[in-house]
Amino acid sequence: MSDIHAEKIIYDLGISRPEDIDLDAVALTLGVKVKYEPLSDCDALIVGHGESAIATINSRSMPERQRFSLGHELGHWTHHKGHMLYCTQNDIEGHSDKARETEMVADRFASSLLMPSFLFKPALFAHKKLSWKAVRELAREFECSPLATALRIVDLNVAPVIFVCVEQGKRKWFRRARDISTAWFPKDSPDPESYAFELSFDPNKAAAGPRKVGADAWFDRYNAARFDLVEDSVRVVDSVYSLLFLEDEAFLD
Ligand SMILES: [Zn+2]
Repeated sequence: MSDIHAEKIIYDLGISRPEDIDLDAVALTLGVKVKYEPLSDCDALIVGHGESAIATINSRSMPERQRFSLGHELGHWTHHKGHMLYCTQNDIEGHSDKARETEMVADRFASSLLMPSFLFKPALFAHKKLSWKAVRELAREFECSPLATALRIVDLNVAPVIFVCVEQGKRKWFRRARDISTAWFPKDSPDPESYAFELSFDPNKAAAGPRKVGADAWFDRYNAARFDLVEDSVRVVDSVYSLLFLEDEAFLD
């Protein structure tokens, strides 16, 4: 799903290449001045007064994090004017199940601004196969984190994919493309046959790219053993990020 306001802003500015998405310039058109300063307890904040506002972005964060944070604050400015909000890393990119609706709205605005579908989809479809490798290339092209990019692909519902974040062998949270049936709910802990399991418990194991595994490694559903899926898992600090590609039509109903 896209935020129509955000997409329209980029479209109306006549931007036709991802590298031309200058968020500071976009902010100015919305009446927002941007400052970059070291912040100790949050990633970004925005303070508005009338029709103008000042967004402060934590200059200690990684560049792509700063970019997403600014997009997120502009989302608050567009949708939640009149509130003053401090946003932390966990709010931004909507990690937790209990992420509040306002944070999700701001996240959606940010990803639509940074990866507008009219630019993102053609870039995505230029990749024959989806994988973390393709996600990283897209992330570089759009100056976003690989995580934000992967979630954008899931949210746009352009591929039958589920993103799962695994920590110490347990599913922490996940997000699935809209077309995949809700009957396919990832297990609390993926099986030892899954690559996520190996990456979680074997520090010497390196990511190996997409590979086929039985769907029952990830799902409890009664007929899971009859199907395969393609898993691409990578280790990111203490987590494992898994992309599960569910190509079989059985996953759609
Ligand atoms: Zn926020």
